[in-house]
Amino acid sequence: TRHHRASQKSHDEACLYMPGGNTRTVLHTSPFPFTIASARSCYITTIDGHEYIDFLGEYTAGIYGHNHPIIRQAIEKALDGGWNYGGHSKIEQDLAKAVCTRFPSIEMVRFVNSGTEANMMALATALVVTGKKTVLVFAKGYHGSTISGRVASGKPSINLPHDFVVGQYNDVQGTKDLLALLPENSLAAILVEPMLGSGGCYTGSKEFLTTLRELATQHKALLIFDEVMTSRLAYNGFHTTYGLKPDLVTLGKYIGGGMTFGAFGGRDTIMGLYDPRKGPLEHPGTFNNNVFTMHAGVAGYNLLTHDRLAALNDLGNSMRLKIESVLEKHCLLSDGTIPLAPLIDENMHEADHPLRPPKMFIKGVGSVMNMHFAGPDRDLLQGLFFHHMLEQGIYMAQRGFMALSIEITDAHVEKFVNAVDSFCRQWDP
Ligand code: PLP
Repeated sequence: TRHHRASQKSHDEACLYMPGGNTRTVLHTSPFPFTIASARSCYITTIDGHEYIDFLGEYTAGIYGHNHPIIRQAIEKALDGGWNYGGHSKIEQDLAKAVCTRFPSIEMVRFVNSGTEANMMALATALVVTGKKTVLVFAKGYHGSTISGRVASGKPSINLPHDFVVGQYNDVQGTKDLLALLPENSLAAILVEPMLGSGGCYTGSKEFLTTLRELATQHKALLIFDEVMTSRLAYNGFHTTYGLKPDLVTLGKYIGGGMTFGAFGGRDTIMGLYDPRKGPLEHPGTFNNNVFTMHAGVAGYNLLTHDRLAALNDLGNSMRLKIESVLEKHCLLSDGTIPLAPLIDENMHEADHPLRPPKMFIKGVGSVMNMHFAGPDRDLLQGLFFHHMLEQGIYMAQRGFMALSIEITDAHVEKFVNAVDSFCRQWDP
C-alpha cells in the first residue's frame, strides 16, 4: 500500500489559504486529494513519489499528454519572443484560421480564457442579437462555473442571473411542452452539449438535438452547441456527426494546446457584430490573445491530425467494449437502468452487513467516457472504485470520468481493464 503523508500535509496547509484547500472544486476527493509534483507523457507523479497512469486527461484539456515535445517547443518559441504585447500577433491569426478551418460551423471566432467565459459570451451575444432574455439549458448540463444545468439539482447555485428554463436532456416532448409554456417571443437561446460531459457522458439523441435545431429556428432563438468537451469526438466537431448546424459553437479545453483557452464562434453575420469597424458589440479581454495559448494552440492543431484523432477515438471505443466484457464476465454489467437494493440493510447489525454485488456500466463516445454504478449505493461504490484504481496506479476522476490522451497506448488500456477486473473479482461467488 502506498502512503500519502506528504500529500496529506500539503492539503492541510493549503486549507489555511484556500477554502477546502483548492481552487477547483472538482479536484476535491475524500479524504484529501494528492498533490501532484510533476507530469510527463501519460504519467503523473505525486509529492509522495508515486506514479500513476493519467486516465483523467485534465477533463479533456490534456489530449496531448504532459510535456509533449512539440507543444513544449512552441511554448519555448513564445518565450523567446516575449509576451504581453498589448497588441496583435500573427500567431493569433494562425490559430483563428486553424479553428475556422477545422470547424465548418465556425465561420468567425473570438478567443477568451475559459470554456465558462466562452459560454458567457455566447449567451450575451444571443441576448443582444435576439433582443430577448430566456435561455433554455438542460438538467445535468454543465457550461462552466457560472452557467450550469446543475441548477436543477436543488443545490444552491452561483449561476449568473440569466432567465433560465431547465429542460430534461433527451426529452423531446417535454422540451416542446416546456417551450410552449413560455411567453411569446421570449426565447433568446438554447444552450446544449451534444453529449453531457460532466453529466456522465450520455449522448444526445439525434431526434433530441434535431428538435432543438427546429425549436430554435421556430422561436427565432440561437442554437448554441457547447463543444468545450465534445469537439474532440469528431474532427469537425461532434455536432457534425448529427448533420446539424448551430448558430454558435463554444470551444475550450485542449484547443489552446493545454494552455488557458476558450473560444466562441459561428455564423459570420452574428460574429460580425464584433467587428469594430461595423458592429455595435465590444469584446475586450487582456489575455484573449495571450501568446502562450496561441503558440501552443497552433502546435496542437498541427499535431492532432484527422487520423490521429480518429485513432484516439477508436482506442476509447475499444476500451469501453473491453470494460463491458469484464463487467459481463463477473455478472456486474447493468444496462444503466436497473435499480439496486441498498448495499447495507438498515435492519442488520453492522458486522453482518452483506456486501451486495454492485452493478456497473460505462457511457461515452470515443476518447471520453464515464464509469457508472447503478443503484442507491452508487456514491459509496464510486468512491471504493476510485480508491481501488489508485491502488492499482490509475488516476481518474472520482466520479468515474476519463479522457484519453494521445500518449495512452493499448498497454495502458490493458492495465486499466485488468484493474477493473480485480475490482470486480471481489464479488465473485
Ligand atoms: N462547457 C463544458 C461542456 C465543460 O465541460 C466545461 C468544463 O468542464 C466548461 C464548459 C467550462 O470550461 P472551463 O472549465 O474552461 O471554464
